[in-house]
Amino acid sequence: MVQIQLTNSKTRRLEIFEPIDPGRVRVYVCGPTVYDRAHLGNARPVVVFDVLFRLLRHVYGANSVTYVRNFTDVDDRINETSAATGAPIAEITNRTIGWYHEDMDALGALRPTHEPRATLYIAQMIAMIETLIARGFAYAAEGHVLFEVRKFPEYGALSGRSLDDMIAGARVEVAPYKRDPMDFVLWKPSEPALPGWESPWGRGRPGWHIECSAMAAELLGPHFDIHAGGIDLQFPHHENEIAQSRCAHGTETMANYWLHNEMLIVEGRKMSKSLGNFFTVRDLLDKGVPAEVIRFVLLMTHYRKPMDWTEKKREEAEASLRKWRTLTDGVTAGTPDPRVVAALADDLNTAGAIAVLHDLARSGDAAVLKGSAELLGLLSDDMGAWAAADDDISELIEALLVARAEARRARDFARADAIRDGFAAAGVEVKDTAAGAEWQLGAGFDAEKLRALR
Ligand code: AMP
Ligand code: ZN
Repeated sequence: MVQIQLTNSKTRRLEIFEPIDPGRVRVYVCGPTVYDRAHLGNARPVVVFDVLFRLLRHVYGANSVTYVRNFTDVDDRINETSAATGAPIAEITNRTIGWYHEDMDALGALRPTHEPRATLYIAQMIAMIETLIARGFAYAAEGHVLFEVRKFPEYGALSGRSLDDMIAGARVEVAPYKRDPMDFVLWKPSEPALPGWESPWGRGRPGWHIECSAMAAELLGPHFDIHAGGIDLQFPHHENEIAQSRCAHGTETMANYWLHNEMLIVEGRKMSKSLGNFFTVRDLLDKGVPAEVIRFVLLMTHYRKPMDWTEKKREEAEASLRKWRTLTDGVTAGTPDPRVVAALADDLNTAGAIAVLHDLARSGDAAVLKGSAELLGLLSDDMGAWAAADDDISELIEALLVARAEARRARDFARADAIRDGFAAAGVEVKDTAAGAEWQLGAGFDAEKLRALR
């Protein structure tokens, strides 16, 4: 069996992955808060951990992996969006979940085994909070319930921070009902106009962290294999999840391996609305960037390094994919190259896997290329429509090639050169061979420029 190694944030080491039960490998990834379209940064953990899911399925069997990714559908940002737009909360969350599926499906991410919505697990959250109070790890005050951080000495172990560092560094909220500023909210009161549920502490709603603890326990059990998410979630969200889960269940461990992806930036700068470089996955798709190209670019960088989205990478990715699609057109996928599996098993080295794909393309091994690429969710048949030249385009290119040949024969070099330059400008790559001209659509292919050559 292939041995998978993963960098465990908990130990800060590369470790051999050993599942608790190889017949049921269990993974939890923190999902989106559903108040708006997913931005490109949100797509990074989705695509990266989709590759992890594919690798685990490849190694342990497709039916042996349980992958849970939640929807946070109760949150202050959702309430604010509702207040600002007048749309009811259920409408916002349902619509956003629909968009999320559209966009992440487009990127070729397999649907997780379970996609629990937080609002359907309120009873489990309340039960967990009651246990935490009964065991002396949490206290109720003024309609709130707080987790008492000082009762859990291992708090901070995941992110490697001491309690005092955390107090100094974090934006902890001081509140009169807190025994200590570090204590975090498990439950809070809700005004009548906001979503709320009856509880032993009055009508209220859960804090954010408790939802993941409750849903993970319900769907994966109190102790499971892998917990993952963006590095921005390591502290405090994941620290809090561990504290809640371990104290409620009385366990030594919540998850054996913690994986964190680094952040995505754009052309070297943090993506932000004020810098004008903020965009959603849908914005890119609407601009005509193929979903497969987006996925490829996201996988060009190792998940533990910051990922810089650049125009140059987009072009590179598009050119590679066009070439590979031409090569694998109509080919049945073969068994993945062991080097690709090995690269992915080496802490999800997607960049290394892509280097092997280039090698396979150079050696012309189309079936193995296709089979290997599919492990990364690339070159699948249902993602390929963008790269296929439609019949009109093919006919036009063939007609222009004939016109160019005629112009050359007639020594009309101006016309022949104009067609040649026009192909280059439109992104059509033409190679003259002994058997005639061969062409393929290159990166940045522009149908309008091609039509202008007629
Ligand atoms: P949110 O909806 O804000 O809770 O974020 C959903 C997921 O996207 C979390 O796993 C975050 O860690 C991740 N995420 C948010 N921004 C970025 C970014 N710029 N780069 C990579 N991941 C991000
Ligand atoms: Zn979470």
